[in-house]
Amino acid sequence: MARINTELRRKPCCAVLDTGEQRYLIDAGLMDLSDRYPAGSLAGIFLTHFHVEHVQGLFHLRWGKGRQMSVYCPNDSKGCADLYKHPGILQFYKLHKLKPITLGKLTITPLPLIHSKPTLGYLFEYEQQRIAYLTDTAGLPDKTRHWLQQHKPHIIVLDCSHPPRDNPPRNHNDLNLALGIHNTLQPYQTVLTHISDEMDTWAMDNPDALPPEVKLARDGMAISV
Ligand SMILES: [Zn+2]
Ligand SMILES: [Zn+2]
Repeated sequence: MARINTELRRKPCCAVLDTGEQRYLIDAGLMDLSDRYPAGSLAGIFLTHFHVEHVQGLFHLRWGKGRQMSVYCPNDSKGCADLYKHPGILQFYKLHKLKPITLGKLTITPLPLIHSKPTLGYLFEYEQQRIAYLTDTAGLPDKTRHWLQQHKPHIIVLDCSHPPRDNPPRNHNDLNLALGIHNTLQPYQTVLTHISDEMDTWAMDNPDALPPEVKLARDGMAISV
């Protein structure tokens, strides 16, 4: 469908978290990061995991001329290709599950997810506003679900790669798993991401399938907490 309707084309995984004071990237799938974000314009990068479509932008960014760039990431001994061996300006900081870190007024809790590589979701908290970013995952580990039930994110950005399937997929949410998480956590809004072409097509054929608090992400979409 995305070949016919170019509006449905989706670029690799990459989001910006803008606190008004600092800007951070969440994942680095775009290949033109140094054009979009000149040296000094990013305070750091949070990686969910080292699958290539989430980190490939770092392969160019690492040879930039600016000061060091902090990259917060899961404790994955393999990483991706030679990023650890030749990090250039990148400084990797391995995060511990459910051990929050603080950067200025921003508190970040790394949340373990269920995926084929070590993967972290993140709960970002800034002046009582909380947004959880949860991709790539198939369901949620109990620990992560409990943490989120206690900390109640206002907005959740959530993996929904697949339309509803008879058997739950193992690496990504289908819509059944995603709506189950939404119903358990009951945020004000859930934004579905990591959408496949199949999921986009299914959603167009089933326009009433999503409750009003749940919407599909689009490239370039902005969300205010
Ligand atoms: Zn992945
Ligand atoms: Zn992915």
